[in-house]
Amino acid sequence: MGRRKRNSKKFSGVNQKICESKILEKLNSDEEEETKKKEEDFSTLENAIDVYQRLKLPLVHSMQHQSDDSDEEEDTVVLNFWPRFVFVSNLCLICMERSEEICESCGMVSYCTVKHKKQGWLKHRELCEVLTEVCTNGGGLSFLPNLTADDYRVYRLKLIEIVECRLKRLLEPWEKEILLYPRVCCSCRYFSKALKYCPTCEIELFCKDHDDKHKEWCQDFQVFRRVLFMQHRNGHVDPEIPDTFQNSPLHLPNNFDLLMAQLYNRSTYYCSMDCYTYCSLSHISTIPLTTLYSMQISCQDWKNIDTFVVHVIGAEFQFECINLHVWEKFFLHFLPNLKHLKLIFIGPELRLPAVPLNLLTAVKICSACKSFGRCVNVSFHPGKFYHNFCRSKQFIKPHLVCLFNPGLYRETGFEGRDTWPETIREFCKTQVPVCVTSYTKHEIPREMIRIKSIIDVETILEPEKNPFASIKPDRNFVSDDAVPLIYKNYYLAIIRGKS
Ligand SMILES: [Zn+2]
Ligand SMILES: [Zn+2]
Ligand SMILES: [Zn+2]
Ligand SMILES: [Zn+2]
Ligand SMILES: [Zn+2]
Repeated sequence: MGRRKRNSKKFSGVNQKICESKILEKLNSDEEEETKKKEEDFSTLENAIDVYQRLKLPLVHSMQHQSDDSDEEEDTVVLNFWPRFVFVSNLCLICMERSEEICESCGMVSYCTVKHKKQGWLKHRELCEVLTEVCTNGGGLSFLPNLTADDYRVYRLKLIEIVECRLKRLLEPWEKEILLYPRVCCSCRYFSKALKYCPTCEIELFCKDHDDKHKEWCQDFQVFRRVLFMQHRNGHVDPEIPDTFQNSPLHLPNNFDLLMAQLYNRSTYYCSMDCYTYCSLSHISTIPLTTLYSMQISCQDWKNIDTFVVHVIGAEFQFECINLHVWEKFFLHFLPNLKHLKLIFIGPELRLPAVPLNLLTAVKICSACKSFGRCVNVSFHPGKFYHNFCRSKQFIKPHLVCLFNPGLYRETGFEGRDTWPETIREFCKTQVPVCVTSYTKHEIPREMIRIKSIIDVETILEPEKNPFASIKPDRNFVSDDAVPLIYKNYYLAIIRGKS
């Protein structure tokens, strides 16, 4: 899973330009600087390129810049796993292009051409027989329009169980998606082999009684489709983030597009960044930027702090614990007074890959930061509940506690035991700000209710749309009657335990 990378270097062309312009800016008189800044901010806002404008751009390849300190030896690890196949009912099972050919037997999967249909038959045959028997001929999909939203979810999970039982094996994640997001009218859930698709996103399906317009979500489905297609073809991308050293602490604007326009200083790389790379950029930035944003809202002394300790509770390795180099770019480079950033990841579901620990915790630091002895210190506490961590010798008092998309309101618990109350009590006891995010607007009030049902807290930030949420869409199952697509860290709230 892991690949060792020696001496991996980042480019420095963009940041040099930014440093120069910053110095020039400093030379101006205060008054001039003030007006210039306003003009600059205004123009960047106007010139910021959002994800929708990037839909048509071709994939941008990472630039391999040579940096001047190439004699330095450094061991870091690059985790290069290929993203898994994602099933979308109206995209070809082989190549993810728009489908024109539907499997005649089950009617639940589709292909771009007859050629791919033939090619896909071997991969699909075994499952097709069962799907046809259970869903299509067996009438398993004919009840869908009459079910309530909750029953519809339960029903789809039940169908998976039945299919797995007949197949005598577990379904792969993409096979489950055939049943989780079936080929039905997105308005009334009517199943038919003759559905028409939205001519713009080419993903959402409609029956003859329903209009093929779905204005509100179409653009986001276009992004979703573009991301899946490019991910299928190219695997993960590694967006280049410039090293923009700030002379004074940078107060984040509350807009991701604006921050990026400022950071990249409208470089060619920035202007030509495609939709997929831009989504990936936001996806790897959302954890550090949401943390920094929360720090600036809730820690009074954020500009002068020299050591900052963050606890990330309920961490998941593949989301929160990779791309750790991004923390350096956004914390050390934005906050010139910060010397040590300590990140502590804790979670019962945190599982580390079989790679030497010193490589997993190694965060690549630029030579400028290194020369000042600045560092990002990482520790993992896999398979551990937060309350147990707090009572252990490894406990270090945090300045900020983070729970990213935790689902505190779910009482199903971990291995059948609801352990959140103990954890909630423990993180409130620290009496430091606690940042909580959720996938949707509807979830965050439930998170707050859960916390308040356990212990008395003060609200530092009422739930609001997080400006640094991921813009990479995922399909929604848990609350698909409310919104069809979800985003990591979409809503944000900050609380603090009362003494
Ligand atoms: Zn195809
Ligand atoms: Zn089939
Ligand atoms: Zn319909
Ligand atoms: Zn559409
Ligand atoms: Zn640095």
